[in-house]
Amino acid sequence: MSIAGGLHLAAERAQAAGCDCLQVFTKNANQWQCKPLSDRDCAQFIQSIDDNQLAEPIAHSSYLLNCASPDDELWEKSLDALVVEWQRCEQLHIAGLVMHPGAHTTSTPEEGLERIARAVQTAIERVQPKCCRLLLENTAGQGSCLGWQIEQLSWLLAEIDSPQVGICWDTCHALAAGYDFRTAKGLKELTQQLDQYAVLDRIAAIHVNDSKKDCGSRVDRHEHIGLGHIGEGAFRRFLRSSSFKGLPMYLETPKETDPESGLEWDVKNLATLRRLAGLRPHASSR
Ligand SMILES: [Zn+2]
Repeated sequence: MSIAGGLHLAAERAQAAGCDCLQVFTKNANQWQCKPLSDRDCAQFIQSIDDNQLAEPIAHSSYLLNCASPDDELWEKSLDALVVEWQRCEQLHIAGLVMHPGAHTTSTPEEGLERIARAVQTAIERVQPKCCRLLLENTAGQGSCLGWQIEQLSWLLAEIDSPQVGICWDTCHALAAGYDFRTAKGLKELTQQLDQYAVLDRIAAIHVNDSKKDCGSRVDRHEHIGLGHIGEGAFRRFLRSSSFKGLPMYLETPKETDPESGLEWDVKNLATLRRLAGLRPHASSR
């Protein structure tokens, strides 16, 4: 949800759309710098989560971070920015900070993974998090982006070795990376693989997005639920699978109005997801 006009307004927007949970950026995602949060900003946001009956607020980190970079200057800058973002989440009582692991660019995947692990371990030492976990997100595997293979996420979790780190699983990225979970057999294979590599138990959040691009395309393009290459049948099985049930799920689909119905796509996507999951059409009464 957009934080235009103030972080607390995102909670009001989420409630208006019928959400149970909320993901925000705590700062401009395309800039390194940000203004420190005031006590008032924090108090207002924390209160707005409560007032709007939202749970599990999470944040997505800036797109500029690259903790896998072989360039020392960019790596340090990314680490510093990660620390700042993580501290902001702590101030805002946010439960999870989602981060794309990073791109190895001119180095090797192995070197990139080492750099990510070192950055995250250093960030944990500096932040000493109390309430917010860092959630490494699986990626579509575009370019030299790491974290698209379950083996890579598994290696990072084992190497970092901290309860302060978990996983955010994105359905669009998973399909684009080549995990074909669209059939009952495919979904079973995916969950078995996640389990074998000790990743399944570490998943703390789901990004529910359909994909504009087909399985194995390694291109990251989000589509409205049911309109992409994942489709309604696959979402129905995924949402009802005991492996993912009960996890907080977040939409990252385009913010548009459907010209046919005049409804916001967030409202339509939520209704579709709740129908497929066999839930009541409105926000849950917790
Ligand atoms: Zn995502």
